[in-house]
Amino acid sequence: MRIRTQCKSCGLPFRDVLTRDTEVVGCPGCGESRAVDLAGWPEDAPETVTFCPVCACKHLYRQRDVNRGFGCLLVAIGAVLVPWTYGLSLVLLAGVDFWLYFKLGQSVVCYRCDTVYRDARPGPRQGEFDLLKHDVLKYGKTWQEVDLAGS
Ligand SMILES: [Zn+2]
Ligand SMILES: [Zn+2]
Repeated sequence: MRIRTQCKSCGLPFRDVLTRDTEVVGCPGCGESRAVDLAGWPEDAPETVTFCPVCACKHLYRQRDVNRGFGCLLVAIGAVLVPWTYGLSLVLLAGVDFWLYFKLGQSVVCYRCDTVYRDARPGPRQGEFDLLKHDVLKYGKTWQEVDLAGS
């Protein structure tokens, strides 16, 4: 399981790979390490993350991990080829982009510690990013406080 996370002490973002033997995730910058709870990454369903193994938070959301620049490039190529393909290239490459966007590159992200589980497939309960939920979980705001700030 490839992950992308951020050190809590020095703030350095780094990548790591979780294996079945991983016990801690260590920061390459300051050496700070965090215990990993592999129960959140079930052995019988290795493509899912039920809770964040790094911080034990149960709230996760799905994120499309596709490089948007790449998608734009595809559409741009399609546009350039329009005079020779009577517009078909645009449709085709936009379709490829669309397919990539929805079928590939979905990953699971933890609301609390922002760790990205790049090889995970989001479960049905792991929906789109919700800013309200994010603020509540991350900054400890209560639902009421968020309501007041929003009005
Ligand atoms: Zn660090
Ligand atoms: Zn987490």
